[in-house]
Amino acid sequence: MDVMNKPNVTVIGLGQMGAALADAFLAAGHPTTVWNRTPAKADALVARGAALAADVVEAVAASELVVVCVLDYPAVRELLAPEAASLRGKTLVNLTSGSPEQARAEAEWAAAHGIGYLDGGIMTTPPGVGDSANMILYAGSPGLLAAHRTTLEVLGDPVDLGEDAGLASLYDAGLLGLMWSVFGGWLHATALAGADGVAAKEFTAVANRWLKTVSWFMSGYAEQIDAGEYPGADATIDVQVAAIGHLLHAGEERGVDDRLPRLHLELMRAAVDAGHGGDSYARIIEAFRK
Ligand code: NAP
Repeated sequence: MDVMNKPNVTVIGLGQMGAALADAFLAAGHPTTVWNRTPAKADALVARGAALAADVVEAVAASELVVVCVLDYPAVRELLAPEAASLRGKTLVNLTSGSPEQARAEAEWAAAHGIGYLDGGIMTTPPGVGDSANMILYAGSPGLLAAHRTTLEVLGDPVDLGEDAGLASLYDAGLLGLMWSVFGGWLHATALAGADGVAAKEFTAVANRWLKTVSWFMSGYAEQIDAGEYPGADATIDVQVAAIGHLLHAGEERGVDDRLPRLHLELMRAAVDAGHGGDSYARIIEAFRK
């Protein structure tokens, strides 16, 4: 700790994301030690006060809290496996993206070597690091997030997903899928409105308000999914099959690609064919459950 009582932090991996993480720790006054395979990427951080470790051993030795953010899990293992003994008793926060299975394997490896382990998912791009409006998901060894919360809050708002280290990666993958689906729907709709001369900015102001209503629908539908019952009291799939016909017609008239709405129609028709046309849209979850 330094005179300001801010704990030392080590950041291993200084790509776009790792550099942003180290920068946020430095900006918050944490003594920050960094290491990167290509040392030149540390130059700007060193100019701002970071200490450059000569190797991973030195980087790990500098702090009780070691954050790693490299390309993938094999790179994490390649870097840290030889340093398992020096990590014993410390907290390793792995903010590298990967699969839930890789995260669980990493947690098992850490536990076998007496290393406290948190797996994380950064729900922003590097310019959003350090903004408490953005979430960083954490899962892993009990108590570790609480113990390091004040330090980790510097990176973004920490969301505790519990002890299953695979959950940060699972949420991360699912949430990215949600983002791509929203982007797809928004871009399709923006192309549709744009065909009649509406500027993307103008349309998007209305679309953003609509997303708040959609989010409210989702909260209600989540309760139906957890209950396993999908009463179509607000709007039925039958009604939405008719509504999507208007979207397809408008797109056809304007020469807009129809693959996305056709996928939705296919899912809705399958539910109708199975006798669920009177249910709410939440029933479509059954199509995703193999
Ligand atoms: P990046 O700019 O390409 O940086 C990759 C980093 O990994 C570099 O520090 C690189 O070292 C290091 N690396 C790759 N292979 C290595 C190996 N075998 N041994 C040692 N170091 C190795 O990528 P990034 O954007 O920082 O992403 C890093 C991680 O954050 C990824 O898992 C990514 O999915 C995740 N993430 C990124 C974002 C984003 O918006 N960028 C958002 C959320 C999560 P060198 O500099 O020596 O090549």
